[in-house]
Amino acid sequence: MTTNTMTTDVLIVGGGPAGALLGFLLARRGVAVVLAEKNVTTERSFRGETIAARSVLTLRELGFEPALARHGYVPLTGISLWEKGRRIVHADYQRFPIDALPIDIPQPALIQAFLDASEPFPSHTALMGASFVSLFEEEGAVRGATVRMRGGETLDIRARLVVGADGRYSRVRKASMLEATITPMERDFLWFKFPRPPEWGHDAQLVVDRDRHLVILPTYPDLLRVGYNLPKDGFSQIRKQGIEAFRAGITELDPRLGPLVEAHIGGWHDASFLEIFTAEMEEWARDGLILIGDAAHTATPILGQGVNLAIQDAVYLAPVVAAALARNADGVVRAAELADFVGKRRTHKAMVTRFQRAQEASLARSSAVGTLLRRMRLKALDLFPLKYRLLDRVMNAPHNMSAEALHVGTL
Ligand SMILES: Cc1cc2nc3c(=O)[nH]c(=O)nc-3n(C[C@H](O)[C@H](O)[C@H](O)COP(=O)(O)OP(=O)(O)OC[C@H]3O[C@@H](n4cnc5c(N)ncnc54)[C@H](O)[C@@H]3O)c2cc1C
Repeated sequence: MTTNTMTTDVLIVGGGPAGALLGFLLARRGVAVVLAEKNVTTERSFRGETIAARSVLTLRELGFEPALARHGYVPLTGISLWEKGRRIVHADYQRFPIDALPIDIPQPALIQAFLDASEPFPSHTALMGASFVSLFEEEGAVRGATVRMRGGETLDIRARLVVGADGRYSRVRKASMLEATITPMERDFLWFKFPRPPEWGHDAQLVVDRDRHLVILPTYPDLLRVGYNLPKDGFSQIRKQGIEAFRAGITELDPRLGPLVEAHIGGWHDASFLEIFTAEMEEWARDGLILIGDAAHTATPILGQGVNLAIQDAVYLAPVVAAALARNADGVVRAAELADFVGKRRTHKAMVTRFQRAQEASLARSSAVGTLLRRMRLKALDLFPLKYRLLDRVMNAPHNMSAEALHVGTL
């Protein structure tokens, strides 16, 4: 098998929201960038489709609004929590002090918008069907990576910085030897989709009964995306009980979904399993390498922050990398030059993780007393504007973005 070679400034492994946006932002600054994505197309199902309001604003400022509008999306109007058929908490997204609503748009459309915007830049190369194999190092610094193309041939890509943006099971993270603390949550998720009844509205809903819950998200174009929580490692158990028992479990939790589940969940192929864990890292960077997005900090699905964090990582990192490359005409980008970026982003992610862990613990309560206390606390919270402050802090927290980071221009 032949091995070819290639040289670039920045090699990004993984063309998800983090990697594809970073590729565009760097190319726009004239940086030579290679984006290596293992899949040949942007197609993927059951991924984060919710873009938090803060990132909607960012994408607007970056000039992506027309591309997103051309595709179409669903604006989300609020979030509510239901128990035993009664709404316990409701927050109206229009009351947040931010000039955007979260939106739901399929990830392929978002990523395609980033790839289309990158295409005119001669310094941008997208290698689709290129899977990361290994890193290569010189004198303790990462100097590039080997990727394998679909045809089997390998390519050694020499770079001054390798960016691992290859998602929650990152192979770049493993190869980097940077340490990650993986904390499994108490439950996992099964996701499925079916048509949205016309009267459903555009609120995200959480339906809880003791330690079982459903997340119901209005999804583009006219669907509901539903996440059903399972006990840890409970998927094999639930499969043994059969699809009928699974359908009955959902209907029992939320009778409104009964007819939809009967009509649209034919078998396990209609559902997608998601293991829930958080990944935390002290160090995201080594000399010549940095991790971003899920590769550096996997979040849980609570309040749909994964795509938001990925987008903000890319926006912040681009100017830092461009400046580091310009400072030193042909050397590697050093970890010390990335330390400020890592510190700020880690602090933001830690705040999100603290909130998500507290919510996970609350949702995992199964005793009668525990669930009663949870209901009382939530009902009390619903009465006060404090709920807006709490949610706003996590969902819409500013990421301290500078005008320099945005480097606004037209697409
Ligand atoms: C089922 C499911 C539901 C989710 N729901 C939500 C939600 O509602 N809201 C939300 O905000 N987040 C959600 N998330 C999380 C969200 O999808 C991620 O946080 C977000 O996509 C992270 O973006 P990323 O670019 O860091 O990684 P990813 O989107 O995972 O992208 C990584 C990319 O790297 C590529 N790749 C992987 N390995 C290699 C390799 N060896 N070589 C080359 N390329 C490689 C992959 O093909 C992929 O394109 C969900 C995730 C899943 C799996």
